[in-house]
Amino acid sequence: MAQHDVIIIGSGAGGASVAFKLVNAGKRVLLIEKGPYLPRNSSTLEVRQVFVDGVFKNHVVWLDGKGHDFVPGEFYNVGGKTKWYGAALFRFRPVEFEAEASYDLLGWPFGYETLKPYYDEATALLEITTFKNEPQLQALLDKITTADPEWKLESLPLGLSKDIVNHPEEAKHFDGFAVPSGDKSDSERNLIDHILDKPNFTLIAGDPVAELIAAPGDPRTITGVKCADGAIYEADIVVLAAGAMTSPRILQDHLHASGLTLPCGDLVGANFKMHINSAILGFSPFTDHDVLRKTAVLYNDKFPHSSMQCLGWIDGEILATQAPREMTGFLDKFLGKRAIGFFATTEDASSEQNRIISGGSGSKPIMDYSLDRMKKAEKEHKALIDAWIERLLHAGLVGFDKYMGMAGTAHALGSLVTGDDAKSSVVDPHGKVYGMENLYVGDGSPLPRASRVNPSLTIYAWGLRLGDHLAG
Ligand SMILES: Cc1cc2nc3c(=O)[nH]c(=O)nc-3n(C[C@H](O)[C@H](O)[C@H](O)COP(=O)(O)OP(=O)(O)OC[C@H]3O[C@@H](n4cnc5c(N)ncnc54)[C@H](O)[C@@H]3O)c2cc1C
Repeated sequence: MAQHDVIIIGSGAGGASVAFKLVNAGKRVLLIEKGPYLPRNSSTLEVRQVFVDGVFKNHVVWLDGKGHDFVPGEFYNVGGKTKWYGAALFRFRPVEFEAEASYDLLGWPFGYETLKPYYDEATALLEITTFKNEPQLQALLDKITTADPEWKLESLPLGLSKDIVNHPEEAKHFDGFAVPSGDKSDSERNLIDHILDKPNFTLIAGDPVAELIAAPGDPRTITGVKCADGAIYEADIVVLAAGAMTSPRILQDHLHASGLTLPCGDLVGANFKMHINSAILGFSPFTDHDVLRKTAVLYNDKFPHSSMQCLGWIDGEILATQAPREMTGFLDKFLGKRAIGFFATTEDASSEQNRIISGGSGSKPIMDYSLDRMKKAEKEHKALIDAWIERLLHAGLVGFDKYMGMAGTAHALGSLVTGDDAKSSVVDPHGKVYGMENLYVGDGSPLPRASRVNPSLTIYAWGLRLGDHLAG
């Protein structure tokens, strides 16, 4: 008998959700995480340490599609990227489960209703709530929506405790930082911590899975994993949840080493998506005393694949970190109180050419991704930014925008796409890899669409659903 019922590779939104479900169903689960536990102290709130020195970030150099080096914004630690995310936890709309051929969007193999119970469960587990807009933000948004009612304002669903407003450092620094108090919901605090002491759960941190192990002479049947330190673990089922930039590379390495081909041909790693994201900063001549700020989102039917979110206080301080050390305090006070940030997101199209490629051992991994393959999405994103900057100007703010670029991989998705057809998708509607036995995918890789909003609640929901399925 195998040592474990299920091995899960990676402890981010997806992996932790699968683990949570299976452990509570009594399965013997081994969760293997590449990175360490993060310290639970104020070091993860320090702007210079987090943003400038990148102490907690990935340092592995990748190649883009043109062969240029870049370092993607990935985080390897217990809880994955959820420790660093902004906890804006949205549901996709039912229409965002459908294909849209004219914009090159693949559809899901099932509709919103199938995921709804798991959205509901994730909403409760992550204690999602909304906050009232602070006075200055509300005044600005009133000006904008009164001048142009096509901008529709909604509260932003946040995985934040109401108590965070009593901790000004954390209220200013939760988006892009790990919050030591636990006032931000993430996959470690809200899922892993609840199963950590159970006898049927083991978590190994700081030892990456290096390869999949298959039955002798049968590379289709996965029986376990081998870690970087050489340790081998066996299980009846293995779940890839190492993130959309890593899970396809682990599978590619197995296919390459074994000579196995899948029914989908070379689609492993293809259809990679990460949203087109830009930050917009509006500068006002007046100082602003709001702290939380990230409480609202706006939509406009003229830009149906896009959203405009408010950013937190982070903006001013991060701007200041770009300046010489001696000026940081001055710029933070000057800009942080006058700058208000927005995050413009547009769904990127699916393209088989946009792909994650393992370089094999000793070579750099490749992220071949280009906006040239999605002209409609790029056009909508530019129009969205122009329209918003114009609105800001009418409201008395001068706006500047910055595209997040290749390194902005926060919303990585889609590289092991799910579908009904084994020839055009990599995993089936339950996350099982077509053409293989015992191998499932539990992270953001199967998501065919990115939607107009941030993806992690949908990844949590996908993971909970997979956990339910495997428990059954
Ligand atoms: C700064 C920032 C802000 C964000 N803000 C938001 C937001 O407000 N709302 C939102 O919805 N989303 C947000 N996101 C995105 C969100 O965090 C991700 O969509 C989500 O965490 C992805 O979940 P995942 O399970 O697919 O992957 P991850 O969370 O990346 O988890 C993958 C895990 O696998 C581990 N791993 C990798 N390789 C191996 C290996 N070989 N062996 C073992 N383990 C391995 C990694 O260390 C990691 O822990 C943000 C991300 C960032 C970086």
